[in-house]
Amino acid sequence: MNPQPVAMITGAAGGIGGETAVRFAERGYDCVLLALPSEDLNPITKRIEDAGRQYMICTGDLADLAYAESAVEQCISAWGRIDVLVNNAAWREITTMRKIELASWEQTLRVCLTAPAFLSRWCAAHMEARGEGVIINVSSIQSQMAAGISPAYVAAKGALDSLTYELATLYGPAGIRVLSVNPGAIDTAMGQDIAVDQQATATKIRQASEDMIPLRRWAHPREIAHSIVMLAGEDASYLTGTSVTIDGGWKQQCSPYSVKQ
Ligand code: NAD
Repeated sequence: MNPQPVAMITGAAGGIGGETAVRFAERGYDCVLLALPSEDLNPITKRIEDAGRQYMICTGDLADLAYAESAVEQCISAWGRIDVLVNNAAWREITTMRKIELASWEQTLRVCLTAPAFLSRWCAAHMEARGEGVIINVSSIQSQMAAGISPAYVAAKGALDSLTYELATLYGPAGIRVLSVNPGAIDTAMGQDIAVDQQATATKIRQASEDMIPLRRWAHPREIAHSIVMLAGEDASYLTGTSVTIDGGWKQQCSPYSVKQ
């Protein structure tokens, strides 16, 4: 068995997933990086090497559950353990319920909900045998705050939070903790893809959101990564079956009086 703990991260080529992999490496974990075949993982693997840790790359489309299952099998046959699973990958189309095609709806649910559910099941089977493990689902504050621009995505994220509570109940007696993190506005490719039409430009939306966030800025993806790795560690040993909002105070911020004057 690998002497170091092992973290498996989906959507690991950049954004929150890439920063999470690097942070785990800095904390002594070897990393299993799941990414789309088209993505360049070199910037992330270089930083994992700089941290002195090993990595394994498994590329494929998470809508294909056979690929997801094979990634778990590959990790177990090479390293014999998975200590942490981070279900981070997500896909969404910026659209509305008036227009969304069934194929887009189904793809979103496959990537954002079905893949995390089954990856959790396959990883938990190995974690149960060792009596420990942590699963972290990267959800969103949009599981609780509507924006009107991504119906399948918000439905999937709401269900992902519910799945977190279900899995925490099922696997808690086996020593496995399951948590959601709910990021607010994060400066990544997905975070910047927010304009639904020509009038509502991304710049205007970003400015408006920054004016509402008490910390008055979007987060760097590293700030979410640090919280994920902290939640996966011993300092969070009694935390399970709950969602942790990481949004600079945005979700609680519904008063028009506290927006930037
Ligand atoms: P990102 O676009 O950098 O990362 C998303 C990742 O998902 C990409 O690496 C992409 O390759 C991967 N992915 C998409 N479809 C896939 C598929 N079919 N198979 C395999 N991988 C696939 O964006 P991010 O902001 O780093 O997103 C990471 C997580 O954070 C997501 O779960 C997202 O919902 C969540 N989140 C982001 C924000 C934000 O403002 N950026 C806010 C709340 C929640």
